[in-house]
Amino acid sequence: MSAGGRERVAGRGSADAGGRARRPRLARGDLLPRVAAPPPGPRSRALSRRLARLEAPGVNTVGGGPALLWEEARGANVLDADGNRFVDLTSGFGVALVGHRHPAVVAAVRRQAARLLHGLGDVHAHPARVELAAALAARAPMPDAAVYFAISGSDAVEAGLKTATLATGRAGVLAFSGGYHGLTLGPLAAGGRGDFRAPFAAHLHAHAVHLPFGCAVSALRRALERRTPGGSRVGCVLVEPVQGRAGVLLPPEGWLAELAAVARRHGALLIADEVLTGGGRASDTLFACTGEGVEPDLVACGKALGGGLPFAALLGRRAVLAAWPAGGEALHTATFLAHPLACAAALATLRLLGSSDHRRRRADLAAALAAGLAPFAELPGVAAVRGRGLLWGIELVADDGAVAWARRAAGEGVLALPAGERGRVLELLPPAVTTPRQLEAALAGLRRALPAASPGRGRTPR
Ligand code: PMP
Repeated sequence: MSAGGRERVAGRGSADAGGRARRPRLARGDLLPRVAAPPPGPRSRALSRRLARLEAPGVNTVGGGPALLWEEARGANVLDADGNRFVDLTSGFGVALVGHRHPAVVAAVRRQAARLLHGLGDVHAHPARVELAAALAARAPMPDAAVYFAISGSDAVEAGLKTATLATGRAGVLAFSGGYHGLTLGPLAAGGRGDFRAPFAAHLHAHAVHLPFGCAVSALRRALERRTPGGSRVGCVLVEPVQGRAGVLLPPEGWLAELAAVARRHGALLIADEVLTGGGRASDTLFACTGEGVEPDLVACGKALGGGLPFAALLGRRAVLAAWPAGGEALHTATFLAHPLACAAALATLRLLGSSDHRRRRADLAAALAAGLAPFAELPGVAAVRGRGLLWGIELVADDGAVAWARRAAGEGVLALPAGERGRVLELLPPAVTTPRQLEAALAGLRRALPAASPGRGRTPR
């Protein structure tokens, strides 16, 4: 079969041979796991094989072997191409905080799609963009805020780094080991994962310096006083309030506030990367930095705030964002910036995230998750359990242990993400609409799937 050829794939799909849509099978999102064909089942395997031949190996989902293919998702449930039903503790990379395919988000997207699918970006805006800018500015974690829309989390961080350069006249970036800010060249240079940076080192600028996450204040001070290897002064500090992809790492109590104070004393802007933590994922406030008593100069957000559509933005004090020249051609923009469907979805999502019902569910689930995960700390092979809100990690003693664990968990009908540079952490970030029964079933599944402890490996330092 050629790469572009058609391949018959067994099982039921979302479209029949004529391309007509099938009715969705997940009417509700509060169902328990049900595994019919050990995942990845035959249809997932066949589609994985096909995708592996069609996409560049670096980016398709199946580089490490056949993956399960998502056919539908609703609430906390995902249905794969073989009809297996999962409880999704990944929220699709943290996006589905209000639940997959929330009816209010779907309705808002439908309404918008009936009027305008695509506008003229930054040249001719559209009403939903105005409404969303107002909603975001009103909810930003700093006073007198303005918005810079973006395409993705990486793009929002790019906009933040460029804003800091314009506003301070300094190109230097202070960032942290393990930090993840996206993989385009700007965020990549600031990112703290050496394995992501190394192949592109020749393209990366020499104005980023990295310190350990949670390092001593004296080290922060010294780095802010020095010049970067490229010879510039530090104009911004880029930080995740909780490092997600690094393996759910929490800074010491009060550290973020100290960091903000030191940065300010040295005239550097604080950029909070809340692409993952924002929306109330890791706090009972919309942004985690607010919960820490920290007012950043700029905050990058995305993921959960789009409710499932690709949305991201940089929010910042109007006085800081005023560093961008007005008039003339935009210095940072994109064809699909502030896409009408994403704006409509984000507006609906912001309303949901702020509703008392959603906030209560978030708080209840956060408490149940913390209680349900605590006993895992005592299990053999587990080094640590840590987290905040609806963002938790279970760290194993064995390298790559979480990779095997996530694979086995899928067999129990539970989706979770391996995280951390050494693959030791299972990252759990459920949708807020996960029911108590679903949580109980998912944690029981995780427990059954826990790989046997491999003795002789040390505890991972945190
Ligand atoms: N920052 C953080 C903290 C993230 O977790 C991510 C994505 N995992 C990004 C930035 C990049 O966002 P995106 O993938 O939308 O570019």
